[in-house]
Amino acid sequence: MVFCTCRQGVLWRALDMDKGESYRHILYLHNFALQQQFKFFCYDVVCNYWPFAKDVGTKLETEDFKKHTEEMVPFLSRFHGKTHTMFCQLLYGGHWTTGAASTTGETTEQSNSKMSRYGSTTKHMSNPNRWDHLTDGMIYWNQEKECGMAKQLAKFYNAALDDSTRHDKEFEKQKQKWLEEIRYQLSAAREKLLVARQTMDEIPFKLKKLLQIKSPTQKLRDFALVQSNKLRAAETIIPLLQSAVVILD
Ligand SMILES: [Zn+2]
Repeated sequence: MVFCTCRQGVLWRALDMDKGESYRHILYLHNFALQQQFKFFCYDVVCNYWPFAKDVGTKLETEDFKKHTEEMVPFLSRFHGKTHTMFCQLLYGGHWTTGAASTTGETTEQSNSKMSRYGSTTKHMSNPNRWDHLTDGMIYWNQEKECGMAKQLAKFYNAALDDSTRHDKEFEKQKQKWLEEIRYQLSAAREKLLVARQTMDEIPFKLKKLLQIKSPTQKLRDFALVQSNKLRAAETIIPLLQSAVVILD
């Protein structure tokens, strides 16, 4: 199952993935979040998902899917974000964003830890029974949340107020370090791009040579594939690094 939760941990929607998670499942939940007029869309790999969602919006001939990326803000969850590259965290990290109120974006994990306990019983059920059982479980979870909502909201509000000054200081302290690191990465990426382009230019020449000695070309094809991957990686990373510098400057 994949769940859509809000910052308060209430379960809004659940989806039976059937065979593993795909962006189609996420797009369905994204669509739901847009209908509810949520501002942020938080996801563990939103950095990869967002270009896909943008593509869906631009490549489909209807206007229906444009709003998803135009009206909502991508939000990379805080602790999952720690495993992403630094510029990824800067570009998509929602924790620092204005209006996010120090949200970590990990409430789905909390609900997952509860809902996963139903796994041992529901795996022996038929699909309709499983869905009913899980729906009951979700309703129960939401009721628990609602009972403690007033207390929790006050707690969140106070925590966000306390954290904001601390995070402001932390951010200012980190900013210079990040800027230096990103500029270093940017120059390294430019060098890599140069090398990859040169190698790609040499490939036809190498191909001719290989054909002369009649050696199999599979090796060269593999080599060319690796080089073009390197080229593509360098080409995509540079604009991302540049936008991260703009954010910090
Ligand atoms: Zn990322």
